[in-house]
Amino acid sequence: MTDVFARKALLRKGWADDVRFGIRAGQIDSIAQNVSPHSEDFVAGIVIPGLCNAHSHAFQRALAGRTEQRSPAGEDNFWTWRERMYELAGKLDAKSLSAIASQAYSEMLQSGYTSVAEFHYLHRHSGADHSDDEMFNAIREAASQSGIRMTYVPVLYERGGFDQPQPEGHQKLFALDIDSFLAHHARAIEHQSDRMNVGIGAHSLRAVSGESLRKIVAVAQAENIPMHLHIAEQLREVEQCMAANGRRPVRWLLENYDVDERWCLVHATHMDAEETESLAKTGAVVCLCPSTEANLGDGLFPLQSFLAHDGRIAIGSDSHVSINPFEELRWLEYGQRIASQSRNVTSTRDSHVGRELFSRVLEGGAQAGVTKPAGLSPGVSADLVVLYDDDPMLVSHDDSSLLDALVFSGYRLPIERVMVHGDWRVVDGDHVKQKQTRAQFAAALETLGDLS
Ligand SMILES: [Zn+2]
Repeated sequence: MTDVFARKALLRKGWADDVRFGIRAGQIDSIAQNVSPHSEDFVAGIVIPGLCNAHSHAFQRALAGRTEQRSPAGEDNFWTWRERMYELAGKLDAKSLSAIASQAYSEMLQSGYTSVAEFHYLHRHSGADHSDDEMFNAIREAASQSGIRMTYVPVLYERGGFDQPQPEGHQKLFALDIDSFLAHHARAIEHQSDRMNVGIGAHSLRAVSGESLRKIVAVAQAENIPMHLHIAEQLREVEQCMAANGRRPVRWLLENYDVDERWCLVHATHMDAEETESLAKTGAVVCLCPSTEANLGDGLFPLQSFLAHDGRIAIGSDSHVSINPFEELRWLEYGQRIASQSRNVTSTRDSHVGRELFSRVLEGGAQAGVTKPAGLSPGVSADLVVLYDDDPMLVSHDDSSLLDALVFSGYRLPIERVMVHGDWRVVDGDHVKQKQTRAQFAAALETLGDLS
């Protein structure tokens, strides 16, 4: 494996100059500062840690850019988008899923994500009358081909809604009974490796009964693995939860479970002030997906209040209308600026917004995927992003504003290389299997036909 010398590197304690990373067996074995490169080192301009994409539905990459035409009724919203997403799910088989996921994961690596939490509920392909592990294996193959580190999060989806005990239409592709789901989870754990760990999840409070949720949470606690859940993404879901449970979703969850650092709650868009403060104090991480939340018209997360109470956040590209962590961070801040008519809002522990957002989601992403500790230090996996230090976006910036520049300026990411577990997966800005992956993606899209 290549040792790496960086003229500048973001270590866990902050920026350092002339840093040499000794890399052994996929790990950072040693870090030396203020040293010279060895002749065989790869010499990098700037090295930063890779980020975790803490919420992904890889198959939805095929829908990006295909749901942006106003319908004749003019009543487009999350729920009408969901019908289109269901139609796509109904066309996929293991081969097409693997090809689409490979493309999504290679794009993640090219943009600086080195790990992904795959929130997987597409357990069956159309025409299959029972669920086996074919779709999971397709996801696993895609992660392997791309080289991304993956937290596989199998997710239970068992009913159509709070008052719909049976899934309907394409939802049947997602549906498993709790026993089959737990058996699948146990098999998935058998496949854990140095690049894949396994969490567990429930799709949402509407799609899982209280009884099954209790069983899933018990597994998360017994195995000490992350527990992921969509929650309060849409107002309609809040209203339905109020009608079914007499509580708003986050309030109901906090009253019924010991939500702690193991939990990753996805979106949590619609919370009142009391829910926001209470959730922040649990230590759970909230995964925000700004580009998808904007694309779907979800609403705006109460970020300022959540961070003021020391809430923890991660980012995810969710439906993959955009795969760029720095764009997610930019829009995280911009949403708050637009709503508050002010600037530099996300600044509770660092006056530099780009630096604060980057460090927060680095820590939150590591928590959501249990790849802690976050950041570059001896003993952690060698998951690195190399930036060109002569790129106009970054040149002449000092340590305080480099990450601000990365988040808020430029239109093209200055990423030269990306390493996962000691292997270069991106070289000269391109994924090492880009040609093959693009060809497979194009062939898969061909088989899916018209998705618009
Ligand atoms: Zn999602």
